[in-house]
Amino acid sequence: MDKLTKAQRSDLMSRIHSGNTKPEWILRCALHRLGYRYTVNNRHLPGRPDLVLPKYRTAIFVHGCFWHQHPGCPSASSPSSNTAFWQAKFAKNVARDARNALTLRKQGWNVLVLWECELVKHTLGTIEHVLRHLECAAGTGSGTYDGGGTDTLTRLDLLHAAEDKVQYRIRRHAQRRASDKKL
Ligand SMILES: [Zn+2]
Repeated sequence: MDKLTKAQRSDLMSRIHSGNTKPEWILRCALHRLGYRYTVNNRHLPGRPDLVLPKYRTAIFVHGCFWHQHPGCPSASSPSSNTAFWQAKFAKNVARDARNALTLRKQGWNVLVLWECELVKHTLGTIEHVLRHLECAAGTGSGTYDGGGTDTLTRLDLLHAAEDKVQYRIRRHAQRRASDKKL
């Protein structure tokens, strides 16, 4: 069995927590590994949800705390210059997010909004939250996951699921961030 050892797990967690991952990848990878199928950035739906699971009639947004203004989050503070400009921009973003979510709900979609910082800091809890939500949306309520043959789910499974892509995407994302900062 390819269970993670304690050392591997803490290594993984430190990499997840390194701040150099795009948190959405963690979720995508975990869901995919668990057998859930989704489309990404569906341009036909309001707000282009990051993940759409048609079978569960669920649209998931993984909002960046800065651009979407995660309430009370340290990453959501306004830049110190051009404050009025940023605040107007943020207000527009927040209003647009609310409008999109409302439209989707009116169309019968379950809308789930996740924050990047939560996915990074509380990876397992957040993914479990998503899974419970999907289970609810499927109306099974049986405690099993309709995940393509996965009938039990443990935290270790989740960690393992998150591992691969996080590992190899970290470097690329870090490089991109570094080059963004240079601009
Ligand atoms: Zn946040």
